Amino acid sequence: MNKKYIKGFCPSLRRPIFASDGLLVRLRFILNTIESEKLKSLCDLSRKYGSGLMELTNRGSLQIRGIKKINHENFIEEIFKNKILEHEDDGNINTIINPFWTHEDQNYKIYKILAKYKVPNLPEKFGLLLDLGKIPCLKNISGDIRIENSRNNKILVRAEGSEKGKVVNFNEINDFVLNMIEWFMNYKKKSTNRMGELLLKKKLPDEWCQEIPIKTCYDIFPSNTIIGQIFGIKLGRFFAKDLKNLLLKSKSPRVRLTPFKMIILENVKNFNDENFISDRNDPFLNLSACSGKDYCTNSSINTFKLAKKIKGKTKLKVHVTGCEKNCGMSKETQILLSGTKNYINFFDFRSKDKTNSRKKLSYFSKKFFKGIE
Ligand code: SF4
Repeated sequence: MNKKYIKGFCPSLRRPIFASDGLLVRLRFILNTIESEKLKSLCDLSRKYGSGLMELTNRGSLQIRGIKKINHENFIEEIFKNKILEHEDDGNINTIINPFWTHEDQNYKIYKILAKYKVPNLPEKFGLLLDLGKIPCLKNISGDIRIENSRNNKILVRAEGSEKGKVVNFNEINDFVLNMIEWFMNYKKKSTNRMGELLLKKKLPDEWCQEIPIKTCYDIFPSNTIIGQIFGIKLGRFFAKDLKNLLLKSKSPRVRLTPFKMIILENVKNFNDENFISDRNDPFLNLSACSGKDYCTNSSINTFKLAKKIKGKTKLKVHVTGCEKNCGMSKETQILLSGTKNYINFFDFRSKDKTNSRKKLSYFSKKFFKGIE
């Protein structure tokens, strides 16, 4: 297999993953936001060069599936021709911004400063979470450095893995975050990719551990909000034609991609589309799954089929994977069903010993989930 297509890294536009259904590219948008005209063009390209299947990741990026190798260069060319991505060379500090950002707020201003930096050799998964403002909601999203509220609206910069962070003024954030990244880069081993891993072995400077963040964290559901309507994406996967249809009919000018497998259609209210979730009680909202069989060569099971079989049987947060790599699991996952060739590994993260037992596919009935809820 061509070296360019080996797995075990984060895919991008120019460095796709070679999946079972063809090349998979991942696009990350500035401010996790894209104008609808550009998103409609992307949907068209997904159908023209790929399988027409798209995915929203846990970090609010979009994946285009099933691109034929022969079409990859043309796909890239059209991405830039249609200005779906503006620059080849954005900064590499992978930042998730609170999806309710406004042009006036601190999240936006800090994002604009930090987004331009390119830190040499920074691990691809290393990421920043910008969660200031009135609706903090990123506490359960994985990251390495958190910029969040502490008491009395102070700004706290906290390394993942530490309960406390350092209070900084707005003007100090830039330098302090870069300092913290430099500290990580200086002390990490070659195999260390995340701040949390490093903090298991290395103590942070005391002055970086002053205060705890506020505990408030809002759960985000499909609903109307001041900036637009939130829609859920069933298991994070959708057809390009359905998204284009939603954009055309709802007339939303811009879309925010959240790390909750949900999108926010700006300026839209009370809209319904059966292909997307607009009901906050929809049972799909508790479920997630990795790509699974037919999409990932490692998968022994059809993860989507199993997730759909479980739908409505439990209110617990269940994640289904096709192998023990357990991709796509979030901090909120309570039950993990991890497929192998002959059985499903069942993990209950609510129990202290993280009970692991082997189950048959047929085991996951309503009765079974009632027994563990
Ligand atoms: S967890 Fe799922 S997506 Fe990840 S390697 Fe295994 S089968 Fe593939």
